[in-house]
Amino acid sequence: MSNTDFVLAIEDLTVSFDGFKAVDALTLYVDRNELRVVIGPNGAGKTTVLDLICGKTKSTSGSIKFKNRELTTLSEHEIVRAGVGRKFQTPSIYENLSVYQNLEVSYPKGRGVWGSLLFKSTDDVVNSVHRVAKEIMLEEHLDMEAALLSHGQKQWLEIGMLLMQDPELLMLDEPVAGMSAKERDQTADLLNRICKNRSVVVIEHDMEFVKKIAHKVTVLHQGKILAEGTMDNVQKDEKVIEVYLGH
Ligand code: ADP
Ligand code: MG
Repeated sequence: MSNTDFVLAIEDLTVSFDGFKAVDALTLYVDRNELRVVIGPNGAGKTTVLDLICGKTKSTSGSIKFKNRELTTLSEHEIVRAGVGRKFQTPSIYENLSVYQNLEVSYPKGRGVWGSLLFKSTDDVVNSVHRVAKEIMLEEHLDMEAALLSHGQKQWLEIGMLLMQDPELLMLDEPVAGMSAKERDQTADLLNRICKNRSVVVIEHDMEFVKKIAHKVTVLHQGKILAEGTMDNVQKDEKVIEVYLGH
């Protein structure tokens, strides 16, 4: 396909595990500054789509373009460096480091022309840590050991670690699972703020939460798109009610 304005353009993407197509000829486009939510029953292939985008799983066929650059041939590291951040279902923070240190170690260190590490000035790092800590509502807890944070705060910290890299595409797999109602609301506000400067793809089951954040919803079923559109339209869709929302 020719160049597009989409941040993410997935076309005819298939991955087959021993003949079973977990993702089956999927075509999906995400705009700049769009917050897309992917829903669907367990086993629909939602997590596998994120695995394919971030290079953890290699596709069988098809194309994934990020800002018109083909990702299917890149390594996981190259995809991160291209500007794609991905959060897994379980938080992977450093429990014995402080909030500050967790953010600090996530600051990207570029490599200079002579192969030596090009350290950014201390001010840049400190400013970024404070800006991100404020964004993720942990400014008051910078010195706290990460192990002592609530489950929700740990999820926010991991989002913050990704924000330190300033990704243009951020992908989150079930970010509010296990959160309190208040934390879910705060996470919705957080995601609504961070998609102002980047595109965000979220997998989530909590429909109240999805309503608060989704610009558009994609419903996945058996590796294919069952429906796509606004939350209102998708909720009224007979097929969606039958395979997912009705249960
Ligand atoms: P979802 O996130 O929508 O619940 P997944 O993407 O995790 O679904 O899984 C989709 C299907 O693909 C499931 O049937 C799962 O068992 C299968 N699957 C996922 N990853 C692999 C793998 N690496 N090898 C074999 N089967 C897999
Ligand atoms: Mg999943």
